[in-house]
Amino acid sequence: MATLYTSPDDSESTTSVLDIPRGANIASSGASNAVHPSSVSTFALAYASRGVPVLPLHSPNDAGHCSCRRDCGRDTGKHPRTRHGLHDATTDEAVIRRWWETWPSANIGIRTGAVSGIFVIDVDPEGYESLAALAADHGAPGFCPDTWTVRTGRGGAHLYFRHPGSGVRIKTSAGILAPGVDVRGDDGYAILPPSRHANGNLYAWLDGFAPGQVALADPPPWLLALVLAPAPWLARTGTPTFRHEAVIGEGQRNAVLTSLAGSMRRRGFSEVAMIAALQIENEARCQPPLPPEEVEKVARSVARYAPAPPAAGQRRLKVREVRHA
Ligand SMILES: [Zn+2]
Repeated sequence: MATLYTSPDDSESTTSVLDIPRGANIASSGASNAVHPSSVSTFALAYASRGVPVLPLHSPNDAGHCSCRRDCGRDTGKHPRTRHGLHDATTDEAVIRRWWETWPSANIGIRTGAVSGIFVIDVDPEGYESLAALAADHGAPGFCPDTWTVRTGRGGAHLYFRHPGSGVRIKTSAGILAPGVDVRGDDGYAILPPSRHANGNLYAWLDGFAPGQVALADPPPWLLALVLAPAPWLARTGTPTFRHEAVIGEGQRNAVLTSLAGSMRRRGFSEVAMIAALQIENEARCQPPLPPEEVEKVARSVARYAPAPPAAGQRRLKVREVRHA
């Protein structure tokens, strides 16, 4: 039987952005277990009360048809109900109450990106292998981060990470990072528990990896480097076309330098070469420049990851076991 998250007894000690409300007891997955309408709104309000902008999504009926009454295929129960979609996402309690009074069984979306301070790696059931390979290629075999994790209705996983902030963009993309692995970043949204999938299953926090049970993690440097949108001073060809106005402000210095270091590493830069190049970039563009030892730290942390592909035997993701009924 799937173990779905209910609020822990010690939920007073909050270290994360979100807490699941006490007594929000959600039925386990399965088509016969309909979500109690009041539960969905309770969750939506709890998310919002922690500063996370939510939006109402369509939902599937018992027959698996989308509430929009069109044939939505894979998008069934996943697209926004309101006119401006993710741009309608809000933390306003009154608005949220009104939405779920109007559509009691609406699924819940979370707007991702700098606006909510969150981005999500969305792994399809078919994407575990390719994420494993990607992680191994970047020196992180067995990648399985301790962070908020949702089991999706299809048995995939949503891995939640802290967005580095408004100074940088994380591109929302599908299948670009790796086959079956999507990124929900700026101008994106993800589906939150206890939303219902067209197959009848509920999205659920993985037991032990829900907000309040584990902290929202920072992305590892290699992952951050991969998901950051190409910096504006890089032309499409990847040829650096240096622009003096491309100043790196406080709050984005670490993220941008990490991204640069990641690109260098992928092209085979040594640690020493990365340190030298980053020091120059830092002096030229960071305002104010980071202390040299900080820059070195960035280079060292990225240099820990081998530029060369690992041995074939390492290409295996130790995904936390996702149990089904
Ligand atoms: Zn629809």
